[in-house]
Amino acid sequence: MFALAIHGGAGTIARASLLPADEKRYRSALEAALDTGYGMLRDGASALDSVEAVVRSLEDCPLFNAGRGAVFTHEGHHEMDAALMAGHTRRAGAVAGVRQVQNPIRAARLVMDQTEHVLLAYPGADELAREHGLPLQSPDYFFTQHRFDQLQEALREGRMRLDHSQATPAPVPDPNWKKGTVGAVARDAHGHLAAATSTGGMTNKRYARIGDTPLIGAGTWADARCAISCTGHGEYFIRAVAAYDVACLMEYKNLSLEEACRVVVHDKLGPDGGEGGLIAVDAAGNVTLPFNSDGMYRGSRTEGGEAMIAIYK
Ligand code: ASP
Repeated sequence: MFALAIHGGAGTIARASLLPADEKRYRSALEAALDTGYGMLRDGASALDSVEAVVRSLEDCPLFNAGRGAVFTHEGHHEMDAALMAGHTRRAGAVAGVRQVQNPIRAARLVMDQTEHVLLAYPGADELAREHGLPLQSPDYFFTQHRFDQLQEALREGRMRLDHSQATPAPVPDPNWKKGTVGAVARDAHGHLAAATSTGGMTNKRYARIGDTPLIGAGTWADARCAISCTGHGEYFIRAVAAYDVACLMEYKNLSLEEACRVVVHDKLGPDGGEGGLIAVDAAGNVTLPFNSDGMYRGSRTEGGEAMIAIYK
């Protein structure tokens, strides 16, 4: 039984503030990504190849804060983070702070397959992508007007923010605030698990700030028991070692996937102020997608089942 779950970020996504036309665009983008992964898994592709392909398709969509459409740093640049991990081998690859590579998740895969390292950062990571012929882009490619406007707003507020969260209180709901980090987790027909996550990080982040996404165990994790991809305020997820904590609760406390994820998202991250959520799949193909924010762009589909796409609580 194969299974797939995807996310497009969590945050202040209130029904009232999302225009019907925008909701439709998000839903179709999520649906297309879910179809890509589902089709691959059905045709026998590995969980790892499938999550990479799903994340790549979401990186190419300017609606989400990853690849094209990544948020701006304080200085007005894009610094993107991505990671993936294969559960049965525990092999992992990640990049942080890349500025040029069109698909950071492909660069993360290169780190895993072509180097003896796990995490490469900054120009060295873009350099690896260049060496292996991955497409690079100029800053214009990553520029989107609404992300730029988000930065101006965050600069005025003087704080870093989740790109899909509005200013609090939000004077006028702005449908452009609500897009996010992307991720996918899968169990393939061979029973192997994998997770992948990609992000532009947080709007107005300081130069060289690295979030939870590329840190194995914090924002991304896969082992033989579960595969996890997180989204939310990265600093909290790092301190909670959130993704790995799900695996630990399953291993050491014998919790089910659903219960372990609930504890991490609602009992640990939530009360601490760690806004966000995660998607998870276990070895039996169970899927869960909990979040403690107002909404999370998400979708899932298991073998032979219907596709589920949702945004709000
Ligand atoms: N977790 C990401 C970070 O902190 C942001 C997000 O999920 O939207 O970089």
